[in-house]
Amino acid sequence: MSSLRMSSLRMASLRVPRTSRLLPAVRSASSRAGSAPLLRTRGYVDGRWLSAPTAFPVADPATGEEVARVADCGPAEAKLAVDAASKAFRSWKQTTAKGRSLLLRKWFDLVMLHRDELAELITSESGKPMRESLGEVVYGASFLDWFSEEARRVYGDIVPSPARDRKLLVLKQPVGVASIITPWNFPSAMIARKVGAALAAGCTVVVKPAEDTPLSALALAQLAEQAGIPAGVFNVVPCSRENTPSVGEVLCTDPLVAKISFTGSTATGKLLLKMAADTVKRTSMELGGHAPFIVFDSADVDKAVGGAMASKFRNTGQTCVCSNRFLVQSRIYDGFMEKLGRAMEAELRLGHGSDPESTLGPLINAGAAEKVANQVTDAVSRGAQVLRGGRRLGGSFMEPTLLADVTTDMLCMKEETFGPLLPVLRFNTEEEALAIANASNAGLAGYFYSQDMSQIWRVAEALELGIVGVNEGVVSTAEAPFGGVKQSGLGREGSKYGIQDYLEVKYMCLGGLRP
Ligand code: NAP
Repeated sequence: MSSLRMSSLRMASLRVPRTSRLLPAVRSASSRAGSAPLLRTRGYVDGRWLSAPTAFPVADPATGEEVARVADCGPAEAKLAVDAASKAFRSWKQTTAKGRSLLLRKWFDLVMLHRDELAELITSESGKPMRESLGEVVYGASFLDWFSEEARRVYGDIVPSPARDRKLLVLKQPVGVASIITPWNFPSAMIARKVGAALAAGCTVVVKPAEDTPLSALALAQLAEQAGIPAGVFNVVPCSRENTPSVGEVLCTDPLVAKISFTGSTATGKLLLKMAADTVKRTSMELGGHAPFIVFDSADVDKAVGGAMASKFRNTGQTCVCSNRFLVQSRIYDGFMEKLGRAMEAELRLGHGSDPESTLGPLINAGAAEKVANQVTDAVSRGAQVLRGGRRLGGSFMEPTLLADVTTDMLCMKEETFGPLLPVLRFNTEEEALAIANASNAGLAGYFYSQDMSQIWRVAEALELGIVGVNEGVVSTAEAPFGGVKQSGLGREGSKYGIQDYLEVKYMCLGGLRP
């Protein structure tokens, strides 16, 4: 039986429930916790839940069914939020590092206490399989934990002075109000990663979550309030895609905003950078990636297959650090393809995120599935072979797909995929692999497998990327810096560097100290 046919049979048993499980799941989880439900549908500004003239629907991507209607904030609500954050900044920046640390720690504790409910919300609005949603909540919370500690380690400097009557000091101070604009693929963790650093530094924030996934952001606001984070320090303005440009304009141009931290596509990042220019705002940009995954002849092929599965199919291929361009050296190419095909067959189950057996969910919307299907069609028209999957299914589901005989002229090698497509190109030399890997405007993450120590150093240094996984397919952690080079962005999140993006350096010269 051909692998395509076997895969088709598997798809026949795809289980996509017709009814959304969000509301019952949230209710029962909330009653278990004995606290206010975490499903909130209004904006959160200055410590109050804010209505808007209209509401927009949030849909379960697996079924298209509406799971909630959320207040559609516009520029007026965004301005209220900026003003509230600006007012709150005056007192928040005066709090002690230890005080901020304790509040972030309480917030972390509450997120962990409510992790199941938060995970149910993520699955309902993003379609992610539950175990991944739970992983996202814990990953996001790790940044609240990390930055609750980093808050107390913001050190300045005393610089040796060239003059005996002067002391030279360097102070670190919070930049001010930060606008935080986040995508749908990690609706909870992308907020925690930014806001943890911002609040630890003494900044206040206005968060604009993605239209598809505002529920996780609002649930985080509910828990921030419970943790005792003061009114105006953490604000959330959910809005529809229709209102996004006008809300974005307020958040990126208002003179009271000092900093923009954005995660999303490179195209949107460029737009926001242009808006930021007029008032010279500080910016952190976590933009699109196009990760290479290189397997050299010396690699442990089994480990490389495990790494490929993990780095490609997490969140159904919808992460900025997902491997997109697989390059496998000639001698091990056939063996790698065979083992990879078997691993896909054994490990991947496509279905509704709330089904415990699902390892892959739907893509965020039908357009996203269409984009992946187009990349498959284009690759096949240029000579690629479909070894597994290849079909777009109903709604926003796309089969996990393995392509062989891929070449660099194919769309999938040129543009970010954001879906469960695994295209594999055969190469002969290290130089060839490096040239292909570096021939991209994106420079976020990449991975390679090799057991040759000198090759490991050579290739790790030569790859034009912000993040390199060597013999590892999943590398992100709160302790390590996350961010890209080239057009993948500016700045770093997490680690000891993340908090620096929310701090200004002030030089103080203390003179008149006669020796
Ligand atoms: P997107 O379309 O750029 O959207 C991201 C956010 O920007 C959403 O909240 C969106 O709102 C908002 N937005 C869009 N236009 C705006 C405007 N004119 N003013 C203000 N805000 C605006 O990206 P996406 O499709 O959601 O996310 C996928 C992309 O994110 C991929 O390229 C991926 O690689 C990248 N990403 C990068 C990282 C990283 O750390 N480097 C992490 C995750 C994802 P609406 O939802 O209302 O459109």
